[in-house]
Amino acid sequence: MSQVLTVEDLTVEFKLPEGKLRAPDGISFSVGEREVLGIVGESGSGKSVTALSLMGLIPSPPGTVKAGKMEFMGENLLKEAENIRGKRISMVFQNPLNSLNPSMKIGAQLVEVLVNHMNMSKIEAKEKSILMMKSLGIPSPENLMNRYPFEYSGGMRQRIMIAMAMLCNPKLLIADEPTTALDVTIQSQILYLFRELKQKFETSLIFITHDLGVIAQIADRVMVMYAGKQVENASVEEIFKNPKHPYTFGLLDSVPKLIPEKRKERLLSIKGNVPGLLEPPKGCRFHPRCSRAMKICAEEEPPAFKVDSSTVWCWLYKSEVVKNENA
Ligand code: SF4
Repeated sequence: MSQVLTVEDLTVEFKLPEGKLRAPDGISFSVGEREVLGIVGESGSGKSVTALSLMGLIPSPPGTVKAGKMEFMGENLLKEAENIRGKRISMVFQNPLNSLNPSMKIGAQLVEVLVNHMNMSKIEAKEKSILMMKSLGIPSPENLMNRYPFEYSGGMRQRIMIAMAMLCNPKLLIADEPTTALDVTIQSQILYLFRELKQKFETSLIFITHDLGVIAQIADRVMVMYAGKQVENASVEEIFKNPKHPYTFGLLDSVPKLIPEKRKERLLSIKGNVPGLLEPPKGCRFHPRCSRAMKICAEEEPPAFKVDSSTVWCWLYKSEVVKNENA
């Protein structure tokens, strides 16, 4: 599978009056053609800042984006984000009401995207907008073009945002918690829509969420983040069948089980809170909350260990690697 996006050693640093804060801090990942990368973690893990840095939307000051490599289809995103944003990489945000202009009719907002980004005439842009909504299964798009965002439900507004993001046929779509504000039924309809558009438009997708249940339904590969660091990268099957990092275990224990015999098990939360990032814990950032922490965990940051097909940043696997090397 050829790569659409390759990111190496990405750090976003914010200079604040209280001090310097880094999140994400040295993360690396890639997204292949038609692949869905799920990024999962609690609030404050750096997921959304990662997405904004790919879009070139980190305000400077106070933010600075640094990366060994940030390449989108052969182009340097650190330099070209402004030209690529909205056309070949699009983004869908959590709350469509904040993203849509409440005083402008929906049709005018869709047409504006195509006029500005694709130099289309207003007539062409209107036709293309209606076609896009039809292909995403949005009912009565002609009627919808003359309405305002507040006239629609949250689920329909999110569909409109997805249509808007897809208008320029982006190669990569970034969705930041797009289902979090929706009830479960609408959530599964929106997830179905994302799966459909991956097939129909051959779009790659980065799907950001705090919910592993959502990840199970949409992702091919998963990057688990904690306090600005990546802690585990693996296929979605590996994350659910054979998780490696204690934090991933904690996230999985807090997801309701669908298997009948496991449904009665109590949901467990991870003890403690995500640390402040102005002064993150030394060593492994998860160590104050980790039931398996060892002496080294509070002293040295764990490097990446390759375990089976996963990559894990955890000292538990040091001996595993040594064992494999000696085998
Ligand atoms: Fe726990 Fe240590 Fe692994 Fe961190 S490195 S997750 S503290 S065992």
